[in-house]
Amino acid sequence: MKGFDKLSANGEGDSPDARLRNRIVREGSISVSDYMAEANAHYYATRDPLGAEGDFTTAPEISQMFGELVGVWLADLWSRARASAGAYYVEIGPGRGTLAQDALRAMSGAGLAPRVELVETSPVLRRAQAQRVSACWHDDLSTLPAEGPLLVVANEFFDALPVHQYGADGRELRVGLHEGRFFRDGEAARETSPASLAIVADLARRIAAQGGAALVVDYGPLRGTPADTLQAMSRHAFADPFEAPGERDLTAHVDFDALGGAARGEGVRVVGPVEQGAWLKAMGIDLRAAALARGAPERTADIMADRDRLTAADQMGRLFKVMALVARDWPQPAGF
Ligand code: SAH
Repeated sequence: MKGFDKLSANGEGDSPDARLRNRIVREGSISVSDYMAEANAHYYATRDPLGAEGDFTTAPEISQMFGELVGVWLADLWSRARASAGAYYVEIGPGRGTLAQDALRAMSGAGLAPRVELVETSPVLRRAQAQRVSACWHDDLSTLPAEGPLLVVANEFFDALPVHQYGADGRELRVGLHEGRFFRDGEAARETSPASLAIVADLARRIAAQGGAALVVDYGPLRGTPADTLQAMSRHAFADPFEAPGERDLTAHVDFDALGGAARGEGVRVVGPVEQGAWLKAMGIDLRAAALARGAPERTADIMADRDRLTAADQMGRLFKVMALVARDWPQPAGF
């Protein structure tokens, strides 16, 4: 009974494990979505989960090439759009700020120096971001600047948002307690993430009104709705999502069809999704890798291994997808 040990060790029962237990005892079972939301809020608020010492690694943490090519993509679109007002770099769920730092460096090389607006709920990760970029922070999209084009990036953000799960009979699945353990009362046949749709619709509305574009990178199928993709990662290995809530990273695959539909409904152009490997190749990752290797020949093998990790079909190249939302009067983005 690991959960109970922790509860008595804390002596106060205010861990998410204890909070969820108390709530279920009080109110009865809760939706998978409520379980996931409570677990992840605690998880991200209390740690930096990224990198070798943490629970998982992301593309920008693997190589500077990822953020640089995102920056090149934004700068290229910006310069071809010939927008007059000052632009904002907006990142949603910026992790350690590594992607922002690499993208801003690449943008400044192309003559673009946008103001930086970061949407981040975790105080721990805000501190990490502040070490890498100077920015304004936001709890959600509602306080973002309401004028001027938005150049938005969201890498592995939507996968962390809560999903509702439904059984084959259409009934919403719930999480209860059975012999002291959390358990879900059925097999999932369908997932939806209203929280993700609300955010993408808000984003699209802002881009349609202010100009700009958003690049969304995450894992999920090219088409169709994910069925049962709720998963937990702990120390770089899959774990039981219904054990130790708040101590493991809970994610679900992203439904790009649904996100794209919600964005289109708000009046932006949706481009993609395409596979991450294909997008990075089209953006010139091979040339960038060769240039980095020329600058540091002793690191050539590592640079090429990182490039392969980001692009190879059996690594991140195929599972991850890239989708763009673009203001209607902005040009066609590169890489698709
Ligand atoms: N984009 C980063 C980090 C991905 S992890 C990278 O690629 O390395 C998910 C990020 O989203 C973290 O920064 C986490 O704190 C943030 N996050 C999770 N839920 C959030 C929410 N509801 N609102 C804002 N940020 C959130």
